Amino acid sequence: MSAPNLIGMLPSELEDLAVELGASRYRGRQVATWLYRKGVVDLAEMSDLSKDFRAALAERIRAELPELERATPSQDGSRKLVFRLEDGARVSAVVMPDEGRTTLCLSTQVGCGYACAFCLTGTMGLTRNLTAAEIIGQLLAARAQLADGESLTHIVFMGMGEPLANYAALVQSLRVLTDAKLGLGYSPRRLTVSTVGLVSGIEKLAREDLKVNLAISLHAASDEIRSRLMPVNRAWSLEALMRAVRAYPLAPRQHVFFEYVMLDGVNDTPEEAQRLVRLLRGVRAKVNLIPFNDWEGSRFRRPPLPRILAFQSILLAAGLTTTVRWSKGEDIGAACGQLKEPVVA
Ligand code: SAH
Repeated sequence: MSAPNLIGMLPSELEDLAVELGASRYRGRQVATWLYRKGVVDLAEMSDLSKDFRAALAERIRAELPELERATPSQDGSRKLVFRLEDGARVSAVVMPDEGRTTLCLSTQVGCGYACAFCLTGTMGLTRNLTAAEIIGQLLAARAQLADGESLTHIVFMGMGEPLANYAALVQSLRVLTDAKLGLGYSPRRLTVSTVGLVSGIEKLAREDLKVNLAISLHAASDEIRSRLMPVNRAWSLEALMRAVRAYPLAPRQHVFFEYVMLDGVNDTPEEAQRLVRLLRGVRAKVNLIPFNDWEGSRFRRPPLPRILAFQSILLAAGLTTTVRWSKGEDIGAACGQLKEPVVA
């Protein structure tokens, strides 16, 4: 087995490591500062650490970022970053600047095992989970190629894979992201974990006290339609899902996000909109309608705009905050549900 990767280790784990190597906890804090505050990954550049300590570290750990193979800019200002991992697998992350914020969309798995009918990533099947090093590595590598003055203000776990199916690495990454003293220092309110609706994972996440935003890929308000679109619904019905969602602890002004991909003639009827209103009654919800992004070989289409707006107006009339989210990066294969890279080459 290869040595553990420094990237993705918690500051407290770096302190423990320093002590194991016969140094003080302070040395561990210095490493964390280099890594997460300054974005320096190369041990040789950590200039306030002694040569001996760096040598001892180098024997125990590696410090490697995923290799940024390609950065493709979109006409809308977003960029798709394709990373080549150590085993040759590829994943992508998307940087999306928008009205004073810049959101980074991270992948958590190579491929995905949930096979949602409308999702291109879902056609790949699951290859493997990413490590926390590979998840945080995407962020550090993305940060390194930002323009001066640009920063990643929001992080969404909405790239390839199902975050809650890679639970340990997800939570480790969230802890590094939210560590205010020596980690990446993100407010949990700027982090969003999106899920197909893994009830046991939502319940576990609720108990972590991380306070991150939860997004549910809902896509239908009736079991009949949802089970056709999302096989996961056969294991956890809407009722079980909504029970877990209602129990997820929210801060005073926090909401649960619901993603709803608009599929022509499938889930875009006024009746389904009414059902959605009933389903979300009493939930502090924000609904994002995502017009379907096409991919070659898919059997779905995006509804005509008036139909999308009619669906939205039913939700709005019922008092639900509802936005139509036009995906970024559609021209570069970076939009929601379009992420797929050749696994090895
Ligand atoms: N597996 C997690 C994280 C991925 S988030 C989840 O499903 O929530 C990516 C979002 O894009 C999900 O809401 C997904 O359902 C949606 N999506 C997938 N394929 C799409 C497509 N072709 N067009 C628009 N949205 C799509």
